Amino acid sequence: MTDEGDRLAELAKRRGFFIQSSGAYGGVAGFYTYGPQGAALKDNVEAAWRDRYVTREGHMEIDAPTVMPEAVFEASSHLETFTDMLVECAECGDSHRADHLVEDDPDSEVEDAEALPNEEVGELIAEYDIDCPTCGAALAEEPVTDFNLMFETNIGPGSSSPGYLRPETAQGIFVDFPQWAEYARNQLPFGVAQIGKAYRNEISPRKSIIRVREFTQAELEHFIDPDEDEPPLERVEDVVIPLYSATEQQADDGGVREMTVREAVDEGVLGSDWIAYYLGLSKRWYERIGVDMDRFRYRQHLSGELSHYASECWDAEGELGGDWVELTGFATRGSYDLDKHAEHSGEEFSVFKQYDEPVTVERPTVDPEMSYLGPEFGGAAGDIVDELESLAGRDPDAFEGDTVTVDVDGESHDIPVEKTGFAVEEVTESGEHVTPHIIEPSFGVGRLVYTVLAHSYREDEVDGEARTRLAMPPEVAPTTVGVFPLMDKDGLGERARELASELREAGLEVTYDDSGAIGRRYRRQDEVGTPFCVTVDYETLEEKTVTVRERDSTEQTRVPVSEVTETLQALRDGEKQFADLE
Ligand code: ATP
Repeated sequence: MTDEGDRLAELAKRRGFFIQSSGAYGGVAGFYTYGPQGAALKDNVEAAWRDRYVTREGHMEIDAPTVMPEAVFEASSHLETFTDMLVECAECGDSHRADHLVEDDPDSEVEDAEALPNEEVGELIAEYDIDCPTCGAALAEEPVTDFNLMFETNIGPGSSSPGYLRPETAQGIFVDFPQWAEYARNQLPFGVAQIGKAYRNEISPRKSIIRVREFTQAELEHFIDPDEDEPPLERVEDVVIPLYSATEQQADDGGVREMTVREAVDEGVLGSDWIAYYLGLSKRWYERIGVDMDRFRYRQHLSGELSHYASECWDAEGELGGDWVELTGFATRGSYDLDKHAEHSGEEFSVFKQYDEPVTVERPTVDPEMSYLGPEFGGAAGDIVDELESLAGRDPDAFEGDTVTVDVDGESHDIPVEKTGFAVEEVTESGEHVTPHIIEPSFGVGRLVYTVLAHSYREDEVDGEARTRLAMPPEVAPTTVGVFPLMDKDGLGERARELASELREAGLEVTYDDSGAIGRRYRRQDEVGTPFCVTVDYETLEEKTVTVRERDSTEQTRVPVSEVTETLQALRDGEKQFADLE
């Protein structure tokens, strides 16, 4: 691990942000438990996400099960394609991500080995003489195979009903789309969001909570009418975003370009207005939760990297310990997921779009004579009827001659048109079925928590003493206020405990601390990112004021006790700045 990684792992464990789970039994790679500080920080990041992407955007939020039946993942194609490249060491038996070994090798210039076929990655392992990172044995002869990342289970006793832990929260949204469409009164566009656990049996989990086997995602599936719906781009068009486009990645001297959302759209750097909207919206949101914009960029997927369903994809990436790590994927998923679930379930995965006025259209129909087709074609007659129906819709001109040709099971059949009952009827239609397209921002909450910690970590000096401080925004800090009595005597302790419970009753996250010198207590709060500390002293008893101290500047000011709750709430919510108090 990098220095940054080591420092954070130590702080995370000592101060209760996160620890490896089941430590008493040696721990299991890829599973972490958030401690009291970490759980509070994660909750606050989720609350800020909900506030932005659900409440303020006016979307619905759902909560679906984490176990889903096999049919769902057969339809979504996860059973077939949700794989990573595995290479196993014959010597020690350890498993490794073959593509990562190739990318990380010092001789390698390959940046995206995942996009290559397995055989080619195997050849590169041999070419670079890559050894097993665990035991040092050569991997050159070992095959590279596909490993499916889904955790399998059985639903109920026996093995007749296989199920899987969902590898993304999204499928829980797609699979019940008909229901969400009904709740949205069939009015596009609408969005369905979900915050919940996802599971991936990663081949080699690593880098702390960055790559784990159980993690929380916050996903929004925005269902739009591809022919009509436009995003409210004007709301974000002036936001400056750092874009590392596919073109720049492939150019010799390419790099990140800072431009406004509007410029990126006008210059064609962003192909989809919807992606542009979400990049602009999210840039402000990342800043709000404390991601350092000097260590942040949006990177476009190269064509080999694109998921099979996506036409345009950008990842928000944070720099962590010298590496760029994906924090969020922004994808245009087309109608792929809804089409697949419609096809596999036989249900309707579209919305009925009502026209302003009914329209009269010509509709070609067939009414084949079975008394002719049956004797003539025997068992193939039924399939021939299906083909005639479909052909009439697709290509009515095919019925213009004396015979029409249909193919059934690789055999061509000529049918006299007069026996097909072909006709063009005039019908009045009040609307049409539209399968929405999907725009998906998919956030990894654990990676955001890690980024906020890494990007807010500071070491400085106060009064000649070294201190560690997490300079995170008050909105996400696990504790908003530390309350201390100057000393636990002369009634100061009692007054401070009373004040702590008053602040808690008002909904503030409060830590009470009366142990050790006051400087020590400040250091303890700085280290977990508590933005404000309130000290109760003798003046509190006489003048009814307390000291409020700000974490980053270490400035202090006196505030009347009667105003302290409101003041702290306003500071937490960003309605007031500390400097305004003096
Ligand atoms: P990676 O390329 O890093 O494996 P991915 O492209 O497979 O990620 P997505 O399928 O786009 O990731 O998932 C959306 C988000 O979920 C990611 O941006 C990331 O924040 C988070 N995520 C994905 N896999 C993991 C994991 N194993 N551990 C923690 N978070 C993850």
